[in-house]
Amino acid sequence: MNSSGSRSVGTARRVSNHSLRELVGPDAGLCRRALGGEVGVALPPFVDHHVHLHLIEEGDLGAHGIAGVLDLGGDPVALAQRPRDSMPRVAYAGAFLTAPGGYPVGRGWAPAACVREVSNPSAHPGVSGGAATAVDEQASFGASVIKVALNAEAGPVPDVPTLTAIVTAARLHGLPVVAHAEGAGMAGAAIAAELDVLAHTPFTELLDHGLILRAVRSGQRWISTLDIHRDDERSRETAAANLAVFVRAGGAVLYGTDLGNGDLPVGVNGRELAALHAVGLRGEELLATLTDPWPRKDRSRGVSTFVPGDPPAGLDDIPAWLSGATVVPTEELIHDDHG
Ligand SMILES: [Zn+2]
Repeated sequence: MNSSGSRSVGTARRVSNHSLRELVGPDAGLCRRALGGEVGVALPPFVDHHVHLHLIEEGDLGAHGIAGVLDLGGDPVALAQRPRDSMPRVAYAGAFLTAPGGYPVGRGWAPAACVREVSNPSAHPGVSGGAATAVDEQASFGASVIKVALNAEAGPVPDVPTLTAIVTAARLHGLPVVAHAEGAGMAGAAIAAELDVLAHTPFTELLDHGLILRAVRSGQRWISTLDIHRDDERSRETAAANLAVFVRAGGAVLYGTDLGNGDLPVGVNGRELAALHAVGLRGEELLATLTDPWPRKDRSRGVSTFVPGDPPAGLDDIPAWLSGATVVPTEELIHDDHG
């Protein structure tokens, strides 16, 4: 006879773990902080899969919900010198690999240390300008991915033999290849080459559905970066339309903001999440874009996401609710096991 004893004690909250998990999936849990007792929701650590650390105040990331980042273009020497277990947890590409004179050579935000101009497809180590030389160097500095620039709107791009040689060299190191694809035909070239990841949702042109299905079938992931187009209606609508097709076909999407590119909030970007929600990634699927540890195999240990206050009442509330996230030590959260 426990009809009067089944209610949770010490809380007036109307939401149960059951209803919370119906909205955002099994990784979510009601909790309170050991220090101060603030109530909220615990989630796995969040990752921004496209940042440039040398252009931002990274110290603000944790307070605003980002525990891990993937740096997609920086100085490999500086990145290799970071303390291993500092926050945020960092995975990186090292330098951009590009054609001689190609993007982003000469851009103010991309000092020479951040770019390698690959002039030939040589697979031999130590060849000046060779594809293997550039890849080997990033690998030797601890890169987790190789970043290649295919931006035909801003200069020359690697020819097919050179791109193929970069991919082959990356595969020898077990490293996936991430492409910045911009300009007519560039996303198509990245899909044809079966590159592992696109650093941006394709935004130059509406892609043929068959091409998008080919990307999905090859297992290609797309990093979202929708909010960088907020002031460019045409790019914004093109990217959203391409991503909607990719999502409906089952393509894997990673939350990423290109943080360092223009005026973006340092931390969880509610506008990026709202844009992802609008193309059909909702609830548990939206959360998964943030909590996917790729390119790491496992989620960071010892840290969790804490979202203070009441859980969302419905799916449409989730993007704004997630933007209130902060990073906390996991041991600081006391889980509410009721309901
Ligand atoms: Zn970028």
